[in-house]
Amino acid sequence: MSDELTITLPDGTPKKVARGTSVADFIRMQIGTGLAKAALYAKLDDEELDLTRPLERGGALKVFTNKSPEGLDLIRHDAAHVVASVVQRLFLGTQVTIGPSIEDGFYYDFYKETPFTPDDLARIETAANEEIKRDQAFVRRELSKDEAISFFQNKGEKFKVEIVEDIFAKGARTLTVYRHGDWTDFCLGPHAPSTGRIGFIKILSSSGAHWRGDPRNPMLQRVYGTAFFSKAELEAHLARLEEAKKRDHRKLGKDLGLFTFHPFAPGAAFWEPKGTTLYTVLSNAMRRLLLKNGYVEIKTPLLFNRGLWEKSGHWGKYKENMFLVEDSDTKEHDFSLKPMNCPSHHLYYSMKKYSYRDLPLRFHSQDVLHRNESSGTLGGLTRVRQFAQDDAHIYAAESQITDEVKRFVGLLEVIYKAFGLTYSAKFSTRPNARLGDDAQWDRSEAALKTALEATGLAYEIKPGEGAFYGPKIDFDVGDSIGRKWQLGTIQLDYLAPERFDLTYVGDDNREHRPVVIHRAIYGSFERFIAILVEHYAGAFPVWLAPVQATVLTLSEKYVDYGRAVLGRLTDAGARVELDESADKLGAKIRNAEIMKIPYLLVVGEKEASAQTVAVRGHGGKDLGTLPLEAFTKQLSAEGNIPF
Ligand SMILES: [Zn+2]
Ligand SMILES: [Zn+2]
Repeated sequence: MSDELTITLPDGTPKKVARGTSVADFIRMQIGTGLAKAALYAKLDDEELDLTRPLERGGALKVFTNKSPEGLDLIRHDAAHVVASVVQRLFLGTQVTIGPSIEDGFYYDFYKETPFTPDDLARIETAANEEIKRDQAFVRRELSKDEAISFFQNKGEKFKVEIVEDIFAKGARTLTVYRHGDWTDFCLGPHAPSTGRIGFIKILSSSGAHWRGDPRNPMLQRVYGTAFFSKAELEAHLARLEEAKKRDHRKLGKDLGLFTFHPFAPGAAFWEPKGTTLYTVLSNAMRRLLLKNGYVEIKTPLLFNRGLWEKSGHWGKYKENMFLVEDSDTKEHDFSLKPMNCPSHHLYYSMKKYSYRDLPLRFHSQDVLHRNESSGTLGGLTRVRQFAQDDAHIYAAESQITDEVKRFVGLLEVIYKAFGLTYSAKFSTRPNARLGDDAQWDRSEAALKTALEATGLAYEIKPGEGAFYGPKIDFDVGDSIGRKWQLGTIQLDYLAPERFDLTYVGDDNREHRPVVIHRAIYGSFERFIAILVEHYAGAFPVWLAPVQATVLTLSEKYVDYGRAVLGRLTDAGARVELDESADKLGAKIRNAEIMKIPYLLVVGEKEASAQTVAVRGHGGKDLGTLPLEAFTKQLSAEGNIPF
C-alpha cells in the first residue's frame, strides 16, 4: 500500500498527500487557510467526513461551508444534539430517542411524563444558545456492540438501547458516537468541528408523537426547532414562515371565493364561480399554446375495464390507488376510474395505423383523473383525489427525441416566465432496476442531455433516479417567497410501446416502435392553482384575475353610468363587476381591496358627464382619471394571455 494518496479537488486538480493526513490539515495545506476556517465537513466521493477524520484513500474531495445548503443541514443536526443535551440537563429523568434534521430545521423526540410548556421551550432555547457560546468540540468515537449497549444501559436510555440493538442486528460492527461537553449520542455523523459553528438555535414548538409512530407505543414529546448561521438569517426565515401563513391557499381560497370542500366528497374541490374562471383561464391558455405548437386535443373515457389496466400494469402495481367500480353486468368491481391519461392515450394510438410521416404525434388531454389517496393525507388543493393535468403524450421516432425535448422546454420556459416563476432542471438517469439494454439507455440519456444543454438551462444530475422505463427531467420552480415546488416533467418511456404493441411504418416500409414521451408543465391544475394563489398572495395579474375591475358608484345617482361602464368593458371581453349598493365609497373600496381586484373604477358626477373613470390600482394606488375608451383599451391589452 502506497503512503501517498491522490485527492482530486472539485475543479479537477489532483493533489498528493500522505495517508493519514486529517481532512482539516489537507484543506489548510493544499487549498488554503480561508477555506480551512470556513469548512464544516467534507465529502470524499460519497463518504461524509468530519474535518478531524484521517484521509485513508484517494478520491474526489468536496468541502462544505456555511455557504451551502448541506452546511445548513449539518448545523441543524448539530443543533439537535445540543438541544437534547440541554433538555437532559434541565429536565432530569428525560430519556432521548431520535432527532433528525428535517426541511427547514430539526426535531428531537424525548420520553418525558409531561409535555413541555411554552416556558420550558424558552428555557431550552436560552440554554441551547449558551451551549453554542461555549464552543465545545464534537468528538467522534467508535464503540463495539458490548461497549455501546452497556454505555446506554448505564444511562438508563431504554429507547437508545433498543435502537442500538437493532443497528447491530442489521449487521453493523461498530457504533459511532459523538460527544460535545459531557453529553454523548450515537449517530453516523458527520458533525461540525464545534458547537460554536451553529450560529443560532430557535425552538419553534412541541407536540406529542408515538415512539416509532405506533399508537400502541409510549407517547414521546417532540421538540421542533431550527438553526441558522446568523440571527438575521433566522429572522428572515421566520418572516418567510409568517408570510407563507398569510398566503396559505386554503385560507385565501376561502376568502377570495375560489373553491370549497364538503365532507361528502373528500379531496375533491367545489370550484366556485371565481375559482372556475381562474381554472378556465389557465386551462384555455394552455390549450391554445399547445394547439399552436403542433399538439392535438383528445378526450378519452373516464371509466375503463380492467383489461386496460392489466395491459398497462396498473392492475398489478397501482390498484390500491384506483377507485374500482362495479360492472352492472358481472357485478364484479372490474372497472376503474382512470388515475392517469397515459394508458388511454396509448390505447387510442394502437387503434390506428401510422407511418413515419405522421410522427411525432402529440395528444393533449385535460381529462378528470381520480386517485384513491387515503383521506388522512388530504388537505387543500395540494393533496386531492380528483384533479386534472395539462397532460400530453408524444409518440415519436427515436431520432426525434432531441427536437421534442427542446420544443417542450421552450414552451415550459415561456409559461414559467409568464408567471414570474424561476425554474431549474433535474436530470434523472438510469436506475439499477430498469428495463431495456444499455445501448438504448445510452441513446435516450444522450438525447435528453443534448436537448437540455441546448436550452442553456442550469441543471442538476440525479444519478439512478430515472423511471425504470426511461430517463426523465423534472423542473423545480421557485415562487415569490423563495419556496421550491416540483412542477414540470418530461419522461421518456420505452416500456409502454412494448406493452401496447405500438408501431409505425418507417420509410423502409417496415414496422418500428415509437418512443412515448410523457410531459406536463403545470402538473395538476389543482396543485398549480394552490401554488399560484400563494405565489401572488391572491393578487393575480390582470390576465389571470377572476375579476379584473370593479365599478364603484359614488351614489345611486350614478348607477346608470356605472352600468354603462360595466357594459362597455364586458363587451370588450373584460371580467368586470359593479358595486351599485348604497354603501359608502370607503366600504366599497375596502371590499374590493379584500377581494384583491386589480382595478377599482370610481364613477360620480364628473366621470358620468365626461365619460371617464377614476382608476385606483389594488393597494390604493391612484392611477388618475381616464376616458372610458382609453381604459377599455388598456384593460383589454393587459388581459391578453402572455403566452
Ligand atoms: Zn449526530
Ligand atoms: Zn403519462
